[in-house]
Amino acid sequence: MHENKKDNEGLSLRATFIVMFIVTIAIAAVLLGITYRALKSFRALSDATASYIVLEDAAEDLLSASDYLTEEAQCFAVMGDMKHLDNYINEAETVRRREKSVETIEKILPDSPALSEIKNAMSESVALMEKEYYAMMLVLSTHEDAIIPDSMKNVELSPEDAVLPAEEKLLLSARLLHDEDYYNHKSIIRDHLSQCVEELKSVTYSTRDRMEERMHIDLVWLIVMVALQTVFVLVMLWLMTTLGINPIIRAVEHIKQDQSIPIVGANEFRYLASTYNIMYSAYKRSIENLSFKASHDELTGAYNRAGYDLIKTSFNLSITAILLFDADKFKNINDTYGHETGDRVLKKIAAVLKQNFRSDDYVCRIGGDEFVVMMVHIDQNVRHLIENKISQINRDLENSSDGVPAISLSAGVSMCHRNNDSQEMFHEADVALYHVKDNGRRGVCFYEPGMRQRQLKS
Ligand code: GH3
Ligand code: MG
Repeated sequence: MHENKKDNEGLSLRATFIVMFIVTIAIAAVLLGITYRALKSFRALSDATASYIVLEDAAEDLLSASDYLTEEAQCFAVMGDMKHLDNYINEAETVRRREKSVETIEKILPDSPALSEIKNAMSESVALMEKEYYAMMLVLSTHEDAIIPDSMKNVELSPEDAVLPAEEKLLLSARLLHDEDYYNHKSIIRDHLSQCVEELKSVTYSTRDRMEERMHIDLVWLIVMVALQTVFVLVMLWLMTTLGINPIIRAVEHIKQDQSIPIVGANEFRYLASTYNIMYSAYKRSIENLSFKASHDELTGAYNRAGYDLIKTSFNLSITAILLFDADKFKNINDTYGHETGDRVLKKIAAVLKQNFRSDDYVCRIGGDEFVVMMVHIDQNVRHLIENKISQINRDLENSSDGVPAISLSAGVSMCHRNNDSQEMFHEADVALYHVKDNGRRGVCFYEPGMRQRQLKS
C-alpha cells in the first residue's frame, strides 16, 4: 500500500500502547509492593504492642505470685492456719504462675536480656522459697498431728531449732519471714523484674521506632507513586486525545463536508488518513470525469445535448441570447473528403466558436453539424456585435490554410424578451436559421415575430 514520509511522522499507537501498558504494570507493581510492606510494618507495630502487654503481664504475674507466696507463708507463720499452707502449696506446685511467666517470655523473646532478668528473679524467688519452707516447717513442728506436704518432707530443722519450745519456734518462724535478709531477697526479685520490664519496653520501643520509620518511608513512597500515577493517567489521556480522539473527530467533520481529512495524530492514523485521501481524490477525479463525459461531446470538447439542457435550466434566461448554428452543405465535405475530415471540420467549428465568444458563453454541439452558443450577460444592443462575430467566424472557417476544408455557418438568433422561455427561444432561433438557409446560407438572421415557420428539427 502507499506509504510516504508523513505516514511515518508522529507517535506510533502500538508503541505508545506498549509503553503505557508496561508503565501501568510497573506503577501498579510498585504500589502493591509498597502497600504490602506498609501493611507488614503496621502488623509488626501492633504485634509489638500486643506482645509487650503479654510480656509485661507475665512479669507482673511472677511478682504477684512471689508476693502471694510471701503473704501466705507470713499468714501461716503468724496465725498457724493450715488454709494458708494449702494456698502456698497450691500456688507453688499447681498454679505455678512464676514458672509460666518465665515460659511465656522464653517463648516470645528467647535469648533476650529480659529473659535472663526474669530468670534471675525466678531463682531469687526459688531461693526465698527455701527460707519460707523452713519457716513454715518450724510452725508445723509445733502441731503434733500435722500432715507434712510432700514438697516439705525433705526440709529438716537444725538440731538447735528442733529442740526449741513451741513459742520460740513460732517467734523464730515469724522473724525469718520478716527479717532484713528476707526483704533483701524480695527487693532483689523486684529489681530483676523492674529491669525485665525495662528491657521489654526497650525491645518494644525499638521495634515500634523501626516500624514507624519504615511506615513513614512507605507512606511517602505511596504519595509519590500515587502522584506519579495521576500524572501518568493525565499524560495518557492527553496522548489518547492528541493521537486518536481529536484526529477522528476532525476526520469525521471533514468527511461530512466532503473534504479530504487532515494528516495528524498517531502514525497509524496518519497512514489511514493519507490512504483515505488518496482514495478520496481518485474517487473525486472519477466522479468529475464521469460528469464531464456525460455533459461534453467527445469529438469537439464542446457541451453535448445533455450539457446544453443542464445549462438552460441553470441560468437566468432574461439576459441570454441563443445562437443556433448549422454547417452549410456539410454532407458534401463528408462525401468529398471522407468522414474523418468531416470530423476535423466539426472540431474546427467548435474551436472557432469558442475562440470568438467569451469564456463565459457556452458552446454546445447539439446534433451532427448543429451548434448552439448561449451568450450570457448580454444587453439589448448586442445585435451588431453578434453580426460581426458571425462574419469573423465564417472568415475563420473559410480559411483552409490549416489543411481543413473551408466551410461556412448559417446562424439563427433569438434574443430573450419577457414572454419567451428557453423552449420558445430555441424555436425562434430555429425559425431564423431556416430563414438564412432559405436565403442562400452563410450568414445570420435575428428572429422577428411573423417569420415563416418550418417543421422543427429538434
Ligand atoms: P445544409 O446546408 O442544408 O445543412 O446541408 P447539410 O449537408 O449540412 O445537411 P445536414 O445539416 O442535414 O447534414 C448534416 C450531416 O452531418 C449529416 C451527417 O452525415 C453528418 N454528420 C452528422 N454527425 C457527424 C459526425 O459526427 N461526423 C461527421 N463527419 N459527419 C456527421
Ligand atoms: Mg448542415
